[in-house]
Amino acid sequence: MARPVIAIVGRPNVGKSTIFNRIIGDRLAIVEDKPGVTRDRLYGTAEWNGKPFSIIDTGGIEIDGDDEIMRSVKMQAELAIAEADVIVFMVDAKVGITHADEEVAQMLYRSKKPVVLAVNKVDNENRQEEVYEFYSLGFGDPIAISGAHGLGIGDLLEAASMLLPEPKEEEYEDDVIKVALIGRPNVGKSSLVNALLGEDRVIVSNIAGTTRDAIDTPFEVDGQKYVLIDTAGMRKRGKVYESTEKYSVMRAMKAIERADVALIVINGEEGIIEQDKHIAGYAHEAGKASIFVVNKWDAVEKDEKTMLHFTTSIREQFLFMTYAPVVFLSAKTKLRLHKLLPVINHVSEQHALRIPTHLLNDVISDAVAMNPAPTDKGKRLRINYVTQVATKPPTIICFVNDPELMHFSYERYLENKIRAAFDFEGTPLRIYSRKKS
Ligand code: GDP
Ligand code: GDP
Repeated sequence: MARPVIAIVGRPNVGKSTIFNRIIGDRLAIVEDKPGVTRDRLYGTAEWNGKPFSIIDTGGIEIDGDDEIMRSVKMQAELAIAEADVIVFMVDAKVGITHADEEVAQMLYRSKKPVVLAVNKVDNENRQEEVYEFYSLGFGDPIAISGAHGLGIGDLLEAASMLLPEPKEEEYEDDVIKVALIGRPNVGKSSLVNALLGEDRVIVSNIAGTTRDAIDTPFEVDGQKYVLIDTAGMRKRGKVYESTEKYSVMRAMKAIERADVALIVINGEEGIIEQDKHIAGYAHEAGKASIFVVNKWDAVEKDEKTMLHFTTSIREQFLFMTYAPVVFLSAKTKLRLHKLLPVINHVSEQHALRIPTHLLNDVISDAVAMNPAPTDKGKRLRINYVTQVATKPPTIICFVNDPELMHFSYERYLENKIRAAFDFEGTPLRIYSRKKS
């Protein structure tokens, strides 16, 4: 299900990232436990009153080579106008309305997108009095918030979620494997799409994106239906995207949301850079199956060890995703291309795998017998019962005496045992601990 998008826009220092972190707070805590997962987040998911949405902190988007604040704020606003369903326009009660605020207001006003005006840093009691001057920006009732004290956030989310469109219906049947190609510009995503759709494939039809950002191409091989969600085509949409390196992360994120399997395309000639990690991190957090596709393998000078070395480097740099298989290929020469679809089929199966409760409990009991949880301040974790509650990604709940006693390293140990018993290759596992009631 594609989530609607809320974007936060405003000058530097009005408190965008503070509010963003408050809104996605819970998930951030989960993520920060895991080494290697992106920290400078600009895209997260949350829900309000049962309405799920994605949220973008446009302040986190660096406009490359542009230090001029006014220009970058405007570009961030432009990005939000293009990407978001609802815009939260944030201003600062302590500073008042600035020239930059007025310029952004003009842009938002012209865009006709739904806008909620949030006045941050209203930290005191007489809250409404502080916001009167902001009526002049022309977005109706300003909402007084305080990121520092966590005030008014519910009012803000209430106002924003009222303006959200209904979530879109699932667009494809269950048996269709939805594959997103993600990666930095120029790693070869478009070439890989073309290669995958080579002449021997039945292309069902070309559907111009149900979301306006991606081109979906359904095709079928040996009775298995796929749809490729390709984001490359939208690159030509405007200058702002070209100049925004982080934009590719955001574009990837939107494709990932709709997919089952993410192909994280890496340029084999260049190796891995930081941005690859961010992109991969989003697939991981979104709970999608993932495959590392090392492209341009034709152009790499290699001996019998090269593949092993590259794999080792991927394992070292993507510590949080050791479950994702690595495929080396060339979209250009089609070298090893035939290896890819079987791996896609496999990880997609694993992503949807459901393990019967009794088997899962057998594995956990054995694991605990072999290596009991260490004690913590004299207390020992006891796991009463384990059950898988969801697929895509497989999600497992451990009912325990005290969830605080489930430490990261022990959870990792259990995860490894579960993987050793049931495979789950290519898919993240979510393991939660709940107090036995
Ligand atoms: P951004 O640049 O818009 O993302 O702003 P930040 O979230 O980084 O916040 C800028 C500064 O404002 C930081 O020093 C925050 O601690 C501070 N700040 C954020 N929210 C509030 C608030 O509600 N009240 C006050 N007094 N300060 C705040
Ligand atoms: P995208 O931006 O990720 O969609 O990348 P493109 O598919 O547009 O490819 C970027 C450049 O890399 C183009 O010049 C391609 O011809 C080249 N390229 C793509 N795949 C391969 C490959 O497997 N081998 C080599 N040598 N070049 C490739």
